[in-house]
Amino acid sequence: MHKDIATPGRTKEILGKYGFSFKKGLGQNFLIDTNVLRNIVEHAGLTKETGVIEIGPGIGALTEQLARNAQKVVAYEIDQRLFPILKDTLSPYDNVRIIHEDVLKADIQAMIPTELAGSKEIMVVANLPYYVTTPIIFKLLEEHLPIRGIVVMMQKEVADRISARPGTKDYGSLSIMVQYYTLAETAMIVPKSVFMPQPKVDSAVVKMLLREKPAIAVKNEPFFFQVIKICFAQRRKTILNNLASGLPNGKLKKTEILKGMAKAGIDPARRGETLSVEEFGALSDALLETFGEKTTE
Ligand code: SAM
Repeated sequence: MHKDIATPGRTKEILGKYGFSFKKGLGQNFLIDTNVLRNIVEHAGLTKETGVIEIGPGIGALTEQLARNAQKVVAYEIDQRLFPILKDTLSPYDNVRIIHEDVLKADIQAMIPTELAGSKEIMVVANLPYYVTTPIIFKLLEEHLPIRGIVVMMQKEVADRISARPGTKDYGSLSIMVQYYTLAETAMIVPKSVFMPQPKVDSAVVKMLLREKPAIAVKNEPFFFQVIKICFAQRRKTILNNLASGLPNGKLKKTEILKGMAKAGIDPARRGETLSVEEFGALSDALLETFGEKTTE
């Protein structure tokens, strides 16, 4: 077994050798605690038949733990300066492929049959760049990737939003989206001291296992998400007012929206944060019927 990358001493040594300086704007907070890494790997339930998609390998601290436990690791890294370092630190592993790309622009769906054809199942495992946590999670879920689940480190505040229940301040479109597609739980809270440099906020590892089918059945998924986003556009406004100004095709008549809301049994004076996933489903189905399919255009 090779020496772990994720110790303070080895990390400093690697960074010094390459004269690497952290780019704050890229969310570069590297893990320097092997226990935390082992815990992440354990929560992901990897086997030698699992293909792993990693986002942001950094200098390879998590990547090497994944490589030791999975069949193959495909990692997306945006920072070109890390490539010579990764070539060096990950040289003992022949089951890692690093792709130089912004994960938000990457065609992950197309990568899977070429890079992970030999894997029986796929997990996304990462210590996410915090400035893009939410768009990454939305992307991973909206693209319907053939994955078993997602186990990722993120800022605790976003982890709280993911598991929030209706009627709480943390509840929003992220909570609904994640709970619609997955069974999600916070697997562990992580102190700042396990990162170099230390982030300003606390962190948490969240485990999201994809449901066999979404929590509820809706007639038109993109429209369902659109309605949710509109209802949370201005949190202090009622759903009626948000919908009146936010639905596509210009402003739609309040009377028509009210008709849809009545059909779904939703009080127009309510705010988005009080609606359950089921109620958003009923609302979007009723609105779709009232306005016809063309509202999704
Ligand atoms: N996995 C490493 C670790 O745990 O030590 C590094 C994690 S660090 C929090 C986030 C990593 O994501 C950095 O290496 C950063 O360069 C990379 N990154 C930032 N934005 C990215 C993006 N849009 N696409 C791919 N990688 C990105």
